Amino acid sequence: MTDKHVYLFSEGNSSMSSLLGRKGANLAEMYTLGLPVPFGFTVCTEACRTFYKDGKKINSFIEKQIDDALITLEEQTGKEFGHAKNPLLVSVRSGSPISMPGMMDTILNLGLNDITVEGLAQKTGNPRFAFDSYRRFIQMFSDIVLQIDHYQFESELEQMKAKAGVSKDSDLSAMHLYELVRAYKKIVKKEIKDEFPQDPKVQLMLATGAVFESWNNQRAVLYRRINRIEMDHGTAVNIQAMVFGNMGDDSGTGVAFTRNPNTGDNELFGEFLMNAQGEDVVAGIRTPQPLCELKRLMPDTYHQFKLLARNLETHYRAVQDIEFTIEQGNLFLLQTRTAKVTPEASIKIAVDMAQEEFITQDEALMRVDPHSLHSMLHETLDSTVEVEVLAVGLPASPGAAAGIIVFDSEEAERLQRTGHEVILLRRETSPDDIHGMVASVGILTSQGGMTSHAAVVARDMSKPCIVGCETMQINESRQEVTFGETILKAGDTITLDGSTGRVILGRAPLVAPTFSQEFTTMLYWAKRRKQMEVLGSVNTPKEAIQAKSLGAEGIGLCRTEFMFMDPVRVPIVQEMILSQNKWERKKALDKLLPMQKSDFLEMFRIMDGKDVIIRLLDPPLHEFLPSAETLSIEIERAKVNKNFDEVQEKEKLLRRVKALHELNPSFGHRGCRLGITYPEIYEMQVTAIAEAALELKHEGIRIHPNIIVPLVSHANEMKLVREQVEETLKHVFEVYKDEIQIPIGAFIELPRACITANQIARYADFMTFGCNDLTQTTYGFSRDDAEGKYLAYYIDHKILPDNPFTVIDQEGVGGLIRFGTENGRKNKPQLRVGVTGVPSSEKKSVRFFHGIGLDYLSCVPHLVPIAIVSAAQAAILAEETKAVKKDQVKSTV
Ligand code: ADP
Ligand code: MG
Ligand code: MG
Repeated sequence: MTDKHVYLFSEGNSSMSSLLGRKGANLAEMYTLGLPVPFGFTVCTEACRTFYKDGKKINSFIEKQIDDALITLEEQTGKEFGHAKNPLLVSVRSGSPISMPGMMDTILNLGLNDITVEGLAQKTGNPRFAFDSYRRFIQMFSDIVLQIDHYQFESELEQMKAKAGVSKDSDLSAMHLYELVRAYKKIVKKEIKDEFPQDPKVQLMLATGAVFESWNNQRAVLYRRINRIEMDHGTAVNIQAMVFGNMGDDSGTGVAFTRNPNTGDNELFGEFLMNAQGEDVVAGIRTPQPLCELKRLMPDTYHQFKLLARNLETHYRAVQDIEFTIEQGNLFLLQTRTAKVTPEASIKIAVDMAQEEFITQDEALMRVDPHSLHSMLHETLDSTVEVEVLAVGLPASPGAAAGIIVFDSEEAERLQRTGHEVILLRRETSPDDIHGMVASVGILTSQGGMTSHAAVVARDMSKPCIVGCETMQINESRQEVTFGETILKAGDTITLDGSTGRVILGRAPLVAPTFSQEFTTMLYWAKRRKQMEVLGSVNTPKEAIQAKSLGAEGIGLCRTEFMFMDPVRVPIVQEMILSQNKWERKKALDKLLPMQKSDFLEMFRIMDGKDVIIRLLDPPLHEFLPSAETLSIEIERAKVNKNFDEVQEKEKLLRRVKALHELNPSFGHRGCRLGITYPEIYEMQVTAIAEAALELKHEGIRIHPNIIVPLVSHANEMKLVREQVEETLKHVFEVYKDEIQIPIGAFIELPRACITANQIARYADFMTFGCNDLTQTTYGFSRDDAEGKYLAYYIDHKILPDNPFTVIDQEGVGGLIRFGTENGRKNKPQLRVGVTGVPSSEKKSVRFFHGIGLDYLSCVPHLVPIAIVSAAQAAILAEETKAVKKDQVKSTV
């Protein structure tokens, strides 16, 4: 084997991180830039893989390369490894291609032994420092290489401090430290039945092997699993000359961020410790001092550092997280990497940097992770209003929500479908509760911690959640819950404050989230940059206001069923459903007409001048009726009470419920099938839309109503409904002696509709793909069952790459959308096409939708900003890809 496995810092750069690891690549880059970095070399990741292949041994070829590099290092530093008077000491540091902070091991001061420690003491005239370094080395080496529990060393250190009567380890004298070293070596001898290894070369090879092995230590493996990092990269090992922060009060070590990682403020931010080494700062043995103290203590060094930090940020064009050490007033940089910052800070930093003309606006937009915006988009509790707190649990997922109490997931779902906002109360949740959690606005459990099922899933769904609320007692059989003295029943209202863990009695007032100036700027840039329109999917005028305030350019989907579920209207809706004939049905519908019209008036006013796409009634009628079980119980009770009128009435209802019963309601008598067989329903809705529109037009308000027909499968359905709608419109126009353009579109959520989109498009002015139903009908998955039962298994076992209800399945469902779009535009090139559902705001999916040429995305209000940013990123990326392709073409010509 002749392959190069060892690279001097002078031979690498930051683009070589898959070979040298992040840390090694950046050390090499900094060294080459001429920054004060102690010299060293990197044993590459390939060597780590070879190490494992060879049965956890460093082979002689690699060892030879390490020896050679060591000679160069000796020459560079003018010191010699293992020399009795002038010893070279090194650090042995792990560093993988993807940074895993603190997951793997580092050994400092390697090269010390009983002889070199004396040489170091003499050469520096500082025996305290020499023995401090030695005791640190023995402890780290024993822990990492010899696998001796560090607790033993720590307790020895504590005893020594007690004996010396000091509280800080930096106050121990040379004598104390000398004794400590002796005690440490005794521990080693007891544990390994041998002396602490004295030969520096042996120490180095053992340490290198141990760092390779730390790639597979438990916490590193777990970290990679959680962060979905590939398991087989391996780590590089950096061997670097030591510099010393523990040489006295003119020395120290610290960590700094070039900007504040919490707020994003443009200020140097960090901590340091005087007379300390390595990770003393993070280990919490002494309280570190803020960097501004360094400015006071060592102004020159501070200013030098500030300048270097600024240069590094400029060089990498990103906020840096820097490790530094000061040795007797001399500054050294030991690491730099792109800093991890909060979502809020990352937006501020990106916008600031673009305004400083440090990066472009496009780059700033690309640096925002759309998903990370979730936490900023929640409603919060109005802090100016006093509330009655029932209990306090663990704040597992932020945001606030108010709703009625339910105790099981089926009930949560049923109530949600009938237009209620519910809060699910459980002892704890399990995968069987997913559909209930989906249906709830908030989740509250009495057990479990911040990583319990409820907490993790709620955070993923970005719903407010409180867990471990131990003072809450649920009594399911009585459908009651107690919080101390207070007893609440199913159906009572509470409010959760997921940001503080407070459970509040009643409906506490919520306020919309407030956005920083940078957030608003970023959103404004994204809006200008994107090409697809971003619209809101809403059920109520309140949601329309919310969507608009978050940047929606119109309403892409206004579901009318929720308007039917208003408690005042439900009896009239039921009257309509129970009608024996068309005439009776019309009578009920006539009562609904003004109500429906008032909804549209409000909606159009709010969306002044913007598109509003209204979907005609979609769900099967039985959703507006009580369940057969509930009715049967009520009938029995009425019989007992001899309430015969009620019995009769309820029995009639029950007969109708049974008649409407469907084996599979999702494939049932719903959507346009309903509108075709009961044309009066759509007639009423279309009349309400047209009258509302014309009345507002008369007031001088600009309105853009659109009508969309749900669940179209065959062009004939579309043709028929279109004729009906047009006839109704014509009638209203005649009455009002005025007209308005109302485009009529098709809601495409069945594979057949995708395949025959060109036929359907003959009768449709636009098309919206409904991702949710289209995914259900393409896969034959029922979403709630799938998410509650087998989908998690599928994803864990990589049978599916993602949840297709969240991330569009590009080949299958996406393939149908692509085909449907192209096919639909075959004879109508200008056909407007859009998409609704969860994927319409998910970044990967949005990129796909942009790529296939969709015109609009429609998503729930609080995801609108996420969709806007995703759409901007999709536009930027598409342009970049195009530019690259053009370049390639040029270079091949
Ligand atoms: P981690 O990956 O856990 O951050 P590092 O390899 O960065 O581990 O090492 C931790 C700390 O050890 C560094 O922040 C630095 O303070 C110290 N250190 C590492 N190498 C040296 C060195 N050559 N000289 C002085 N201190 C060092
Ligand atoms: Mg560490
Ligand atoms: Mg580090």
